[in-house]
Amino acid sequence: ADLAMYEAKAGGRNTLRFFDPAMQAAVNARLHLEADMRQGLERGEFSVHYQPVVDERARLVGAEVLLRWRHPARGMVSPAEFIPLAEQSGLILPLGRFVLQQACAQLARWAQSPATARLRLSVNVSARQFRHADFVAEVLEALREHAANPRRLTLELTESMLLGDIEDAIARMQQLKREGIGFALDDFGTGYSSLSFLKRLPLDQIKIDQGFVRDALVDPNDAAIARSIIALANSLGLDVIAEGVETEEHHHFLLQHGCRAFQGYFFGRPVPHTDFERAVLNR
Ligand code: C2E
Ligand code: CA
Ligand code: CA
Repeated sequence: ADLAMYEAKAGGRNTLRFFDPAMQAAVNARLHLEADMRQGLERGEFSVHYQPVVDERARLVGAEVLLRWRHPARGMVSPAEFIPLAEQSGLILPLGRFVLQQACAQLARWAQSPATARLRLSVNVSARQFRHADFVAEVLEALREHAANPRRLTLELTESMLLGDIEDAIARMQQLKREGIGFALDDFGTGYSSLSFLKRLPLDQIKIDQGFVRDALVDPNDAAIARSIIALANSLGLDVIAEGVETEEHHHFLLQHGCRAFQGYFFGRPVPHTDFERAVLNR
């Protein structure tokens, strides 16, 4: 009865739902995954991959840090599958800390070699993590602990997580910006794409969502959106980066319209740091 009630609430309230065994199965699967995730954290099943980010001349300028989970029975589980659940259960907090620790340690290691010292790292931050009371302190602590340069770190936020108390979000961002940390607005164009947001938030960069990039060559609307986002960013003095660049044609189209930074399979897939470093040295 309880499950049916929750379904009714999730269905917009003031409606009816009958209990269906599939509801129970979904809840069980979620609980199972959650327990596995908790255990996975203890057993070191999580790691991070690095996906190259390049400039207009295809020179490597940094990487995005992407979380990976190697489940003992299921193999690689996609973050798209476990991040939402980690958000709901609160496990995103230890997971987010783990990713930040990895990123700071990597930045500190890279700082020691001239071939990698200039590389930046972008880290995805989830809504719950960003809103957590200790978030600012934790980021600064992770940087300090590893003696990593905050100017090499970018935090990626999405529009939806900034809704609500925007003043509070701006205050947090400003505290971190004062230390040199950069901010990118991820998946731009898929959410509210509010222009007043762009004006008010202390951002450095916007990321064109990969959906627009993917279809820019086949759908004139997507092409127009991609072009407009680039123009908007350029006129607001923000860096713009296109993600999901899979082909030479994508790259050419974006370059032609003024995009200066790129990320996608065309330039490199997300890989463990050892592979990433090998690729850097071979460039
Ligand atoms: P995102 O932040 O938009 O990350 C980009 C996603 O696009 C990554 O998927 C990446 O592997 C994929 N991608 C990159 N280039 C291409 C391309 O050329 N073509 C296609 N089709 N895909 C490409 P991934 O690694 O599966 O991550 C999915 C999402 O999970 C991320 O989307 C992000 O929202 C979330 N995520 C990943 N790592 C973290 C993390 O450490 N913390 C948080 N909060 N979220 C994370
Ligand atoms: Ca991202
Ligand atoms: Ca994205």
